[in-house]
Amino acid sequence: MLDWSEPSASPRQTPPPVVVQSVAPAEQTGLGMIDRRGGRVSVDDKRMINCRADVNQLLPLKYKWAWEKYLAGCNNHWMPTEVSMQADIALWKSRDGLTEDERRAIKRNLGFFAASESLVANNIVLAIYRHLTNPECRQYLLRQSFEEAVHTHTFQYIVESLGLDEGELFNMYREVPSITDKAAWALKHTQHLDDPDFKTGTPQADQAFLRDLVAFYVIFEGMWFYTGFAQILSLGRRNKMVGIAEQYQYILRDESIHLNFGIDVINQIKIENPHLWTKAFQDEVRAMVREAAELEAAYGRDTMPRGFLGLNAALCESYMHFIANRRCAQLGLQRVFDETENPFPWMSEAMDLKKEKNFFETRVIEYQNGGALSWE
Ligand code: FE
Ligand code: MN
Repeated sequence: MLDWSEPSASPRQTPPPVVVQSVAPAEQTGLGMIDRRGGRVSVDDKRMINCRADVNQLLPLKYKWAWEKYLAGCNNHWMPTEVSMQADIALWKSRDGLTEDERRAIKRNLGFFAASESLVANNIVLAIYRHLTNPECRQYLLRQSFEEAVHTHTFQYIVESLGLDEGELFNMYREVPSITDKAAWALKHTQHLDDPDFKTGTPQADQAFLRDLVAFYVIFEGMWFYTGFAQILSLGRRNKMVGIAEQYQYILRDESIHLNFGIDVINQIKIENPHLWTKAFQDEVRAMVREAAELEAAYGRDTMPRGFLGLNAALCESYMHFIANRRCAQLGLQRVFDETENPFPWMSEAMDLKKEKNFFETRVIEYQNGGALSWE
């Protein structure tokens, strides 16, 4: 067993070796045999990964930022069916309310999100949860999992309301190459963890776990989702598909907490395991971010070959560069693109940067109940 405890402050105080009851990695799940002679967990025993302390004891809390995100998520409760789809249905069925280009962009956007919410949910539940050995973080993951279910529900509700072809929408991640490329890229980074024999506890395995966190939290939810939100919210600003736009605003608010939780998790793992955050690994993460932005640019060109009022592939690409640089900064990395102005400043005003607060900056405190959100 590896021990990630911080080096003791003074070598003179080195205590005599203590025989710690060894806990097999499998028991980091919390489902192993109960250790009847084990002590109570103290804050200092808690670790993000490879923790030897009982993961069934939520208290005492060590990572207040994780608990606060759990509370913030609970304060944001909403359901897609609370949003009226009447205006969207009328517009979608009207002959000339939307251009062909707008319809194509909307359908691809919905298709990208519809399956992506499930990919993200499956990654949380089947890959991340098991290896994140901290109960307050797991508490948040449980909340996040439910939110991903609500998001998937949203796409079911949209398909049903607009009478869209469900097979077409939910299969776009397999059938539309520019969407498949993104999903396949992310899945590549969770495949290690999908191996039933995968265990954290070696630098290689722990870095594989970090790669998964980067791919799903920082890139999938933190970069690709953001261009998706910008597309729909831009239509909403022109009074088109306002029901979907309102739902996306709620999803965006959830996702900004998901993203910031992921950033905090990665940064906390870095603090506890500085040996993982090597120069080579940092370069790798920056390369991932750059590659992801390129995939998004290709998706933008495919989704909006001609563009329409207020939105085109070039604007989405520079927005992606802006976001990519910001994600790097949040992880303490050098930016990957030239400094870019935000082409969608209304995104940051509305939801984006104001909510993007992690525990290294300030606490997330301004969330309210779903019903209180107003859409203009
Ligand atoms: Fe989601
Ligand atoms: Mn999410």
